[in-house]
Amino acid sequence: MSIGGLSARASLNQKPTKPCERCGLRYPIDEHACPHCKDIKTEADLALFKEHIESQKEAGSNMGSIFFVVALILGVLLYFLF
Ligand SMILES: [Zn+2]
Repeated sequence: MSIGGLSARASLNQKPTKPCERCGLRYPIDEHACPHCKDIKTEADLALFKEHIESQKEAGSNMGSIFFVVALILGVLLYFLF
């Protein structure tokens, strides 16, 4: 789905980035404001946004381990079938 596409796009895009002091995400150094959190006005909304980022990171690592397990099962199945 979108995870592979995002990382492929990130590797093509070699612009230097800097970490945002508010949300911690990286953005191009030639941008004046962080595109991720510049529209977030309140600290409460920023906290929610950070939680959202963290939950996405966890979802991503869970997806990785699920793919690993599925690949392992497929490998074992193929080993016994052929
Ligand atoms: Zn930010």
